[in-house]
Amino acid sequence: MKYILDQSTETMGREWVPSIIFMELTKSCEYSCRHCRASAQLDPSPDELDLKELKNVIGSINDLGESKPLIVFTGGNPLRKPFFEDIIEYTSQLRIPFSVSPPGSELINGRILAKLKETGCKSISLSIDGADATSHEWLRKLEGSFDLTMQSAEKIIEAGINIQVNTTVMKSNLMEMPGIAKIMKDKGIRTWELFFLINTGRGAYLEPVNDKEAFAFALWLLWLRRYGFIIRTVELPQYRVLQSRFADISVLDSYLGDKDGNGSGIPDDSWDLLRTLQQKTREALGEPEPGKSQAPSSRMHENRGFNGILFISDIGEVYPSGFLPMSLGSLREDNLKNIISRSKLLKDLSERKNMKGACGVCNEVTHCVGSRSRAFALMNDPLAEDPICFISETAFENKEGMV
Ligand code: SF4
Repeated sequence: MKYILDQSTETMGREWVPSIIFMELTKSCEYSCRHCRASAQLDPSPDELDLKELKNVIGSINDLGESKPLIVFTGGNPLRKPFFEDIIEYTSQLRIPFSVSPPGSELINGRILAKLKETGCKSISLSIDGADATSHEWLRKLEGSFDLTMQSAEKIIEAGINIQVNTTVMKSNLMEMPGIAKIMKDKGIRTWELFFLINTGRGAYLEPVNDKEAFAFALWLLWLRRYGFIIRTVELPQYRVLQSRFADISVLDSYLGDKDGNGSGIPDDSWDLLRTLQQKTREALGEPEPGKSQAPSSRMHENRGFNGILFISDIGEVYPSGFLPMSLGSLREDNLKNIISRSKLLKDLSERKNMKGACGVCNEVTHCVGSRSRAFALMNDPLAEDPICFISETAFENKEGMV
C-alpha cells in the first residue's frame, strides 16, 4: 500500500550551489536544551574562530560568486559571541544577506535590535517548542524561558524586524503544535520553520516522529496554510514533494475528504492524528478562513544538490548540514570554494544514483533525495534510504517487509 504515487521523471543536472549557510558563531549558550544539535554549553569552545578568522570565512562566502547565499548566524546563542556587532557590520558591508537565530534571551535588547535593523538583518528566528511554559521549559531546561521568549518576540516586533518561529518536531511535542500556532497568530507572526528531530547531539536521546506521524503532520502543515501561515520544513524533504502536489489547496481539500474523513484516501492511523491536530487547531484558532491560503514557501532548493545548504561550525569545520556530523574540510586550512568543489561527500550526496534503497530508485527527483542526516543518524550511512519516507511505494514496501 502506498500513500502517494511517484510521479516526477526529471533528472538532477545543475552544479550544486549553497543558497543558505548556517554559521555557528559559538557553542556558548545560557540554555542546555534536551534536543540541542550543538550540545551547547555555558562556556565557548577554547578554539572558536576569532574575529579575524570569522571575517576570512565571511570573505570566503563572498567569493563564492555573484549569487550570494543567505547567512544564518546561529549557535549556541550567537548574541553571546564577542564582536557580534562587528561580524554583522562586516557581513552587511559585503552586501551578503543575513539573519540571526538566537534563543529567547536577555541579550535581545533595544541596542542590538537597532544594530540589526541598521545593518539590514533579514529576520530573527525565535525557538518555541511548547505551547506553554511547562512544555517549552521541560525541553529547554531553563526556568522562565517561555516568558523571556514571549518578551523577546514583542521586542523584535516593536523594532520592526521580520520574525519567524522555529520549532523542533518530535513525538513528545506533536500535540503542542496547534497551541504554538495560536501563539503565533496572536502575535501576528506568519512564518514557521519546523525542524524534524534528528538523533544527533543531545537530541540523540529523544524520540523522533515515525513515517505515519510525519505523513499526518505534513498534511496538517499543508492544511494550516488556510490560516495564512508560511510553512518551511527542515529535515523533512518529503514535505516539499507534498507541497508541490498540493500547491492548489482545493486539490488538498479533495484529498483530505470531509471533516470525518469521508472520501479521504489517507490510512486510518495517519488520519486519526491528522483529525486530532485539526480539531485542536479549530478549538484554538477557529475555523480556517475560506479562500485564505498562503502560497508554498519559495525556499524549496529545487535542483540544488541534496538540500541547498551548508553548515560552518564554531571552529570553522564545514558540514553538509548541522545535523550531519561528517566534515567536508576546515576553513582554517582552505577556502570555501575549494572545500565545496573538492568534496567527494558533497558530490555523492547530490547524485540520485548513489542513494540506496528506495531513495536510489525513487522517481521524485526535483524536491527530495531523502534526509541524509536522518539516514546517517539512524542507519550510520548518509546514502541510506530515509527511514521515514511516506512518499515512495518502494520505501513503504521496504518497511512492510521489515515488519
Ligand atoms: S524514497 Fe527517498 S527520495 Fe524518494 S520520496 Fe522517499 S525519501 Fe524522498
